[in-house]
Amino acid sequence: MTETHCPYCSLQCGMRLVSRRAPGGPPRPPRGTPQVAAWEEFPVNEGALCRKGWNATGLVGHRERLTTPLLRDRTTGELRPASWDEALDLVADRLSTLRADRGADSVAVFGGGGLTNEKAYQLGKFARVALGTSQIDYNGRWCMSSAATAGTRAFGVDRGLPFPLADLEQTDVVVLVGSNLAETMPPAARHLDALRERGGTVVVVDPRRTPTADRADLLLQPVPGTDLALALGVLHLLVAGGHVDEEYVAARTTGFDGVRRSVAGWWPERVERATGVAVDELRALVRLLADAPKVMVMTARGAEQHSQGTDTVLAWINVALALGQCGRVHGGYGCLTGQGNGQGGREHGQKADQLPGYRMIDEPAAREHVAGVWGVPADTLPGRGRSAYELLEALGTDTGPQALLVFGSNIVVSAPNASRITERLEALDLLVVADIVLSETAALADVVLPVTQWAEETGTMTNLEGRVILRQQAVTPPTGVRSDLDVLQGLAERLCSPVPFDTDPEAVFAELGSASAGGKADYSGITYERIRAERGVFWPCPAPDHAGTPRMFLDSFATPDGRARFHVVEHRGAAEQPCADYPVHLTTGRVLAQYQSGAQTRRIRSLPDDGPYVELHPSLAGRIGVTEGATTRISTRRGTMTAPARVVATIRPDTVFVPFHWVGANRLTNDALDPSSRMPEFKVCAAAVAAGVSTGSTIGPAAAVGAP
Ligand code: SF4
Repeated sequence: MTETHCPYCSLQCGMRLVSRRAPGGPPRPPRGTPQVAAWEEFPVNEGALCRKGWNATGLVGHRERLTTPLLRDRTTGELRPASWDEALDLVADRLSTLRADRGADSVAVFGGGGLTNEKAYQLGKFARVALGTSQIDYNGRWCMSSAATAGTRAFGVDRGLPFPLADLEQTDVVVLVGSNLAETMPPAARHLDALRERGGTVVVVDPRRTPTADRADLLLQPVPGTDLALALGVLHLLVAGGHVDEEYVAARTTGFDGVRRSVAGWWPERVERATGVAVDELRALVRLLADAPKVMVMTARGAEQHSQGTDTVLAWINVALALGQCGRVHGGYGCLTGQGNGQGGREHGQKADQLPGYRMIDEPAAREHVAGVWGVPADTLPGRGRSAYELLEALGTDTGPQALLVFGSNIVVSAPNASRITERLEALDLLVVADIVLSETAALADVVLPVTQWAEETGTMTNLEGRVILRQQAVTPPTGVRSDLDVLQGLAERLCSPVPFDTDPEAVFAELGSASAGGKADYSGITYERIRAERGVFWPCPAPDHAGTPRMFLDSFATPDGRARFHVVEHRGAAEQPCADYPVHLTTGRVLAQYQSGAQTRRIRSLPDDGPYVELHPSLAGRIGVTEGATTRISTRRGTMTAPARVVATIRPDTVFVPFHWVGANRLTNDALDPSSRMPEFKVCAAAVAAGVSTGSTIGPAAAVGAP
């Protein structure tokens, strides 16, 4: 039996993997499929798992599992099996030639928010030291970056939840802005139920009545892209009603006077016009907040994945600060991280602008410290690179990278404006993808490297609470696959890296701890042994005898003067507004049985895969002549797709929803970027919907589709 964690979302539920026994017979061999069992003692989920977790072993021993490197045959254009030496030699040769001919930045690296801390750390080091390139970023840029930017600006450091998730049960009012946690991380929803049982109140802000909204005492359904205006309206009424905690604001914050002035013009009727939220509903929310001793405000992708996502989060942080909640037990602001290692993945150096421990790559002291741990001169480290979308957009152009190494990401499905990005991938001289199955991105690659998956390897993850946990190897990997750490070591050696790369995850974690020491995300006091003994350790944890930090900001914030910062922000609205040709809002999101690009979950037969669908309101369906299940065509300026209709009264009549786990949704989404975080606007764009002409789901280029 092995105690480990789910391979999917940021809750990182604890689970036990046990070998199946034939009745009366010996245990199955280590490579057999283990069974998932509850681990009741792990505090985050107390034995509860969602459907994805219970079926997580469905990919162990899966028939589509890659077990040998694949090379694209230049004659036939097909992928053919190759030995590891042949594959790694080829990759290293081509990278070396490119670097010699066009410079180090002609090679790029793309990571993922699902990689372990060890892999994320090693990937950043590999890019900067073995390749010498500044061109590294990762798909977490599309998940967490707006909340991370806002958290850093307001509090001096970004930790998604600065308190344990279970604190939710002890607050009085929780406001969930753009989160559907009942569907995306169901075990977390028990805290909402417990809160309501003890008399607390749940408020949900979402254009759709989701399963989370079904648990809410108050649901506000704003127009997509207007959460910021709603927050401005909330703060306006709090100020007008004298509900600001002036003592707290004076003692623990700066910048409120400007914010107070900036919300003066956001009277309720103006907010109603901007957001579609009725004045009475807005006032009801403000009454709840004004009367509650303890309030938690939480945002998730619905509020963050916008071209003004950072400002939207800052606007809701302003609300929490004005109420005097941040840094108080059972109150404050938190972000519900999405990907499995969405938190740790953004701390240890796979972001274009960061070094391990949340150090910034352009700070001289940070460079000196990390270069010292790595054993290289600081002046050999490159500077900032391009952010994720900008990096992909530059691939194969005259000034952009000509080769890309991808680890833990399925870009073809998950990138915004995905058709354009697919073209850029096809324009590369060399695309190398390390993955466990032939994902849509791996299928385009020149070289595919088969790597180990969660149950076959050991490594740490950092969950949405900042709790560092340990995934332990439970089964032997199939013959022929290697860990990502092995791949990086093999390439680094062939590239004549100035320093060696370790392949033992525990040794890499120890090195990561040294590199993070003294940084904002300090892991230097955390060891595998401690994680096992304590069932997770919260960072910052700067020494072996430090208890870790479950609750942050209780005494001061991580700013130079210890005070939190208010920020004046203005509502601009979505980059693309409805018009005559594209008259409705398109928003995207997740479903219970699937995870991210679906590369893993779509292959698990025990998880339902109904394919994509278009969710729309009966009044809109009636106008365009679509009935339940009928083929519906949805188009944006970037592409078109068809999928069956789901006609529901739970969505705004001016909005349609498409889940993004399949190829299609992201061919429609907008690549407008937040100016600070560089987060694309996944959550809203202008679209046209019409009755389709075929059955099933199809995708295609943009079509001129008129108003319904
Ligand atoms: S809630 Fe998340 S971590 Fe927990 S079982 Fe489901 S997918 Fe896995």
